[in-house]
Amino acid sequence: MKKKDFFIHHYDTPIQILKREFAYKISGRPNIMMSFKDLNLINPIIRAVTEAGYSKPTEIQYTAIPHILAGKDIIGCAQTGTGKTAAFAMPILQLLKKYTPDHKEIRTLILTPTRELAIQIEENFAVYSKYLPLSQLSVYGGVPAGGQLAALRKRVDILVATPGRLLDLVNQRHIDLSKIEIFVLDEADRMLDMGFINDVKKVLKLIPQKRQTLFFSATMPSGIRKFAETILNNPVEVTVTPVSSTAQTVKQSVYFVEKGDKTGLLIDLLQNENMRRSLVFTRTKHIANKLVQQLEGVGIFAAAIHGNKSQTARQNALDDFKAVRLKYW
Ligand code: AMP
Repeated sequence: MKKKDFFIHHYDTPIQILKREFAYKISGRPNIMMSFKDLNLINPIIRAVTEAGYSKPTEIQYTAIPHILAGKDIIGCAQTGTGKTAAFAMPILQLLKKYTPDHKEIRTLILTPTRELAIQIEENFAVYSKYLPLSQLSVYGGVPAGGQLAALRKRVDILVATPGRLLDLVNQRHIDLSKIEIFVLDEADRMLDMGFINDVKKVLKLIPQKRQTLFFSATMPSGIRKFAETILNNPVEVTVTPVSSTAQTVKQSVYFVEKGDKTGLLIDLLQNENMRRSLVFTRTKHIANKLVQQLEGVGIFAAAIHGNKSQTARQNALDDFKAVRLKYW
């Protein structure tokens, strides 16, 4: 069995789960039947994740959570899709809940490269903290700061931020990072690829030296590892095998068609295959816009998301898509 087959997906069939359990038994890896309770997570968190449909921890969760709860620094090699957000969010909430000081400063900072990720992480925290008296907020660029400023006046325990907007708000004295207890650097490799290294270094100067640091990256080239070593204190290394590139529940087909016939075929598929929601990828922004017009022309509700759309338009399209107000994208 190849190494990547050890990863457990929440959409596994019982047979696949049994096979993987056996693989874990003979490979000596941690027991995949481990429950959230076995990880010593508190009931309000278990209740919230159970309601969210999670039945058991993923590999990154059962490997990382005990160390995070023990107050250790982490260097985690895990991609999006492995459940890594919950792997840091659940223990962070538990640690913050344990000791709630009188002061109302921000106690956890999560730095992430994009606004979409920031929003997603905040949404995850909101789900997991449903039964806890803790609050989260995300701040990111590309939108007016007014809403974020108003939200910052209320209690914020966990702040999720992209580096540029965070530094702006700190410089304008709307955010104080001097009481940060836990710092998470999410998608470190992407952060550095996007040229955020200097911003990250500036943020590091603003947070206390004495803190718990959780460092996550999908890849761990030597540059990233060296950088991690400069900000972590005796970290525990956690690596999970990547999510396999395709879900076994997804049927894949290829159609060979002339360029001029592509849109017609797509419309035909969307209308006749009884699809509930669809994602369509195009090569350029222009083609995406044109395709939306063509789909709308035949009565198919669609919206395009790309870099030329405003943040609000992108978020509206995402919300409509999630709520199935929009069938095609
Ligand atoms: P992430 O890697 O954090 O982007 O998470 C990928 C997806 O897995 C998200 O939609 C999570 O809601 C979901 N997820 C996280 N942990 C679990 C779990 N233990 N069981 C089922 N789904 C999960």
